Amino acid sequence: MSTLEKLAPAASVFDLAKIRADFPILSESVRGGRLAYLDNAATTQKPEAVLRAMDHYYRHQNSNVHRAVHDLAERATMAYEGARDRIARFFNVSREQVVFTRGTTEAINLVAYSFLQPKLQAGDEILLTGMEHHSNIVPWQLVAAQAGAKVVAAPINDDGSLDFDGWRAMLNPRTRFVATGHVSNTLGTINPVAEMIAEAHARGIPVLVDGAQAIAHLSVDIPTLGADFYVCSAHKAYGPTGFGALLAKREHLDAMPPWHGGGDMIRTVSFEGSTWNEPPYRFEAGTPDMAGAVGFAAALDYIDGIGLAAMAAHEHALLLEGTARLREIPGLRLIGTAAHKGAILSFVMDCAHAQDIGTVLDQEGIAVRTGHHCTMPLMARFGVPATVRASFAAYNNQEDVDQLVRGLAKARRLFA
Ligand code: PLP
Repeated sequence: MSTLEKLAPAASVFDLAKIRADFPILSESVRGGRLAYLDNAATTQKPEAVLRAMDHYYRHQNSNVHRAVHDLAERATMAYEGARDRIARFFNVSREQVVFTRGTTEAINLVAYSFLQPKLQAGDEILLTGMEHHSNIVPWQLVAAQAGAKVVAAPINDDGSLDFDGWRAMLNPRTRFVATGHVSNTLGTINPVAEMIAEAHARGIPVLVDGAQAIAHLSVDIPTLGADFYVCSAHKAYGPTGFGALLAKREHLDAMPPWHGGGDMIRTVSFEGSTWNEPPYRFEAGTPDMAGAVGFAAALDYIDGIGLAAMAAHEHALLLEGTARLREIPGLRLIGTAAHKGAILSFVMDCAHAQDIGTVLDQEGIAVRTGHHCTMPLMARFGVPATVRASFAAYNNQEDVDQLVRGLAKARRLFA
């Protein structure tokens, strides 16, 4: 059974018209016409509930956290720490396991510098897959270079799935760490992360899962997955930009040194030396983004209010429809057709560069992303400089697919 099949459709509770009405920006006119927002893998739009929660925070709760006895400071702290509880519940971890960050990128850097760097030795290997986002490549390269260690990447099959046997064969006594995306932002491929974690753990190797593209589409139960580190960004799950989390095993966080110094991350400071606060605060130096935390919590409430299974089933239907319609377009090549994939359509057309296709689509009110999608090694693997990427969220509808197909027909007329 595929991951998406496991997410049993709950269509009866899925009210698409109401969901669309929850997102004010969807009624914006662009280029003088209807907006088809299909750039959700880059960032999702935000529902009223998130906008209201953040507005409420600044109107009624704002102060600095953890540092004062006055009423507003208490409200701000309650809001911020309440958000931590909410986020912990969503991923089925304890609040001490939730470290707030600026997003996936910062969370990966935190693990690279605080967890891995002190352990890395010359000759060690960090095993990735060939479909990683640059955020899940470059931080490992930076720490590897300092230690004389090496970053290696497992092969990808022609359909965009991971060559699992190839990946497993690359695990060896030099492998010090494994990092993998849960869902590929370019291909939509859903990686078999539970199996990967089991294989790595059988060899004593810790694993980081980049969940940036997963948390709004797949149910993520971190203890069941067994990931040592799971990282995500709020903005790809209907929450605010510049906010995210590292969800980590407690024993790792307890043993990890701080990586940013400043207020809140210390227990004591003197000129002779300082001592560190407990996790998660040890890793949250400085005034945090309280409104970001509140917005992320509201976004997770929003997702739970609709139900991730119903959202995923709807997105999957759009994926099937979009795939079938795009396959009918002459000269269009889909990149990423794995059996287990999320609602992302990446493609190239033989008549024009992806950038030019994107420009025509924009004229028709269709927001897609064009380029390498921060996955340059993957572009090299498929022998293309760039793709057009249409990515779906729960608020997309049939009209969005129709508009995309019409836009592509126009591009063909213009360029072919
Ligand atoms: N990993 C994946 C798979 C992504 O898609 C992205 C963003 O596109 C990132 C990491 C980086 O996320 P952020 O820019 O929010 O830190």
